[in-house]
Amino acid sequence: MRIDIATLFTDMCNSVIHESIVGRGIKNGHIEIYSHDIREYTENKHRRVDDKPYGGGTGMVMQAQPVFDCVEAIRSQHEGTPRIIYMSPQGETLTQKKVQELAAEPWLILLCGHYEGVDQRVLDELECEELSVGDYVLTGGELPALIVADAVARLQPRVLPNEDAYSIESHYNGLLEYPQYTRPEEWHGRKVPETLLTGDHRTVTEWQRREALRVTARKRPEMHRAYLDREVSEFWHEFLTAKQLPEDTRYSEVFHFEMSEYWANALLRLVMRGKKRATSSSLLGYEIEGDKLPVRGQYSIVTDWDGIPRCVIKTTAVKVLPFKDVTFELAVREGEDASLEDWQKSHVSFFTEEGKELGYEFTWDMPVIFEEFRLEYKGRKEEK
Ligand code: SAM
Repeated sequence: MRIDIATLFTDMCNSVIHESIVGRGIKNGHIEIYSHDIREYTENKHRRVDDKPYGGGTGMVMQAQPVFDCVEAIRSQHEGTPRIIYMSPQGETLTQKKVQELAAEPWLILLCGHYEGVDQRVLDELECEELSVGDYVLTGGELPALIVADAVARLQPRVLPNEDAYSIESHYNGLLEYPQYTRPEEWHGRKVPETLLTGDHRTVTEWQRREALRVTARKRPEMHRAYLDREVSEFWHEFLTAKQLPEDTRYSEVFHFEMSEYWANALLRLVMRGKKRATSSSLLGYEIEGDKLPVRGQYSIVTDWDGIPRCVIKTTAVKVLPFKDVTFELAVREGEDASLEDWQKSHVSFFTEEGKELGYEFTWDMPVIFEEFRLEYKGRKEEK
């Protein structure tokens, strides 16, 4: 891939692009980056590139002619059609997705403005796209162009040691990266998380995935929501395809069991092994939360504690009955407890806790929704 930067400050660009990882990438022939001095293309003896704006106002404007001639000269150096991008605070904001799109191009020309900007006519003539590095204004386009060049260069094959070096990093897959640690194991009384010292690849990978989700939820809640929405919608689509169901089939809810990580994941495992085929909830809880009662035939997506969809269940029966009337025959379908006494004990504790949180009081006469379901789908990843 080739990147040409058209600028008034070639030294500034060269001093950055020839350093460190990108510099090595250029030296080893994995990417070509050149900077070109727009001033070389002026036609006046003072080598002026700017003039006063028509209509008045402060500052100077870069003239069309030297900018155009510089870009034309760059275009004549190489075969093919470059994407010409004017770095501008008015452009589309740069994201990792945009970087990935640009990294797949064979050739980019990045045009850096200065002063008040560039005569609009040359931008129109060159049919420039506009790209911004954020909603703030810098003195020139060099830093933005260098940001684009750096972000795009590191995605080129062999610039980084392997694909993992960028594919698990923040933003690449819509999440932020998990926290990183290096030697020593303890510093200022702070220890490296034990899981990372186990050497067990699977456990470490699971920890990294979980932490990436949690870091994203904490630092960028909107990104976390969008990620989970995408996961749910892909999972649902996968389910409809696998079961050859009509595209307009809907699920009624996406949920995880219980109110703690341990129990949410433990009950999910029981459902996925076919051992848990029912769940009971407080009718009062449903009313307080304004939730619709489950109905026979509805589909639900069950997630793990972190919100990742793991299976689809279908409701097969719904009963509402007083807590005290739940029999052993029903209780055993929940798959958690060996006796009715155990079921009652664990559910008294759960409903008491939930009641405190939602604002109802547990009683033995309290109505319970007893929902039975069938495991419909475990997901492609799970089948492997
Ligand atoms: N008068 C322009 C305006 O208000 O839109 C701003 C000009 S700015 C002072 C000078 C140059 O810096 C621009 O021509 C552009 O190339 C570059 N620049 C400034 N902020 C930028 C940003 N956020 N993203 C990309 N380029 C930027």
